Amino acid sequence: KDFRNKVKPNWCPGCGDFSVLAAMQRAFANLGLEPEDVAIVSGIGCSGRISGYVNAYGFHGIHGRALPIAQGLKLANRELTVVAAGGDGDGFAIGMGHTIHAIRRNVDITYIVMDNQVYGLTKGQTSPRSEMGFKTKSTPKGSIEAPLAPMEMALTAGAGFVAQAVSSDLKQLTHIIEEGIKHKGFSLINVYSPCVTYNKVNTYDWFKEHLVNLEKDESYDPSDRQAAMQKLMEHNGLVTGIIYQNKDCKSYEDLIPGFRETALCKQDLKITQEQFDKLVAEFA
Ligand code: SF4
Ligand code: MG
Repeated sequence: KDFRNKVKPNWCPGCGDFSVLAAMQRAFANLGLEPEDVAIVSGIGCSGRISGYVNAYGFHGIHGRALPIAQGLKLANRELTVVAAGGDGDGFAIGMGHTIHAIRRNVDITYIVMDNQVYGLTKGQTSPRSEMGFKTKSTPKGSIEAPLAPMEMALTAGAGFVAQAVSSDLKQLTHIIEEGIKHKGFSLINVYSPCVTYNKVNTYDWFKEHLVNLEKDESYDPSDRQAAMQKLMEHNGLVTGIIYQNKDCKSYEDLIPGFRETALCKQDLKITQEQFDKLVAEFA
């Protein structure tokens, strides 16, 4: 199935988000999904445009609010594969409350964060992921705030699937998105997706030099939560691969008796036309 559509992305040439889009489209096709099986909900930011670039259902939400919409969608129709997507500002600043609670709630959706460590759409301000000393027009003498550690945060919030990738490795990125979708519960995938226009520090070359691929370490066991935390601390969060996965965790839907039998939006309302008309008249 072809998940590409005819809309031309208006990202800057070289933006990391192009790879995330390609990886997402490939992952859906590799998993044998149909466009009508998939819904993408995005927030606001350059990356938030992604929901309009995939041949599937798309919902371009409001700033920091992709997750409540995505969770509602999944709970109404559990038959859909629901992917939420957005940037680091969207998910880790204004949307952080939703991110933490979505992690602990564990609805079976996949959340892809395109982390470029800057606010790109508003022309380059410090984001919650910018490094100390990062100079932007909002921090001309360099940022004096420590960056948020999203993977460590997810582990402590009780996440069942925590992974990280980089836009320059399309193969690993596609594989991780596939595994995130297959995981039965909330999956957080943070993607280092360079902003070539406003972040001249964390570039493709910088990531090539600094990232450690956990999948190359055969002794690494992603089911060990404590080891995951240790690895993250050892490399200052600069790792790629599936960092942690609890394959036995129960999703929110699993804990609702009878929920998996019939999607809410397909349930018989057990109401006659007459009763329905009466209800509508009362609301009117
Ligand atoms: Fe990508 Fe940055 Fe351009 Fe936005 S401003 S499209 S994040 S390169
Ligand atoms: Mg950003």
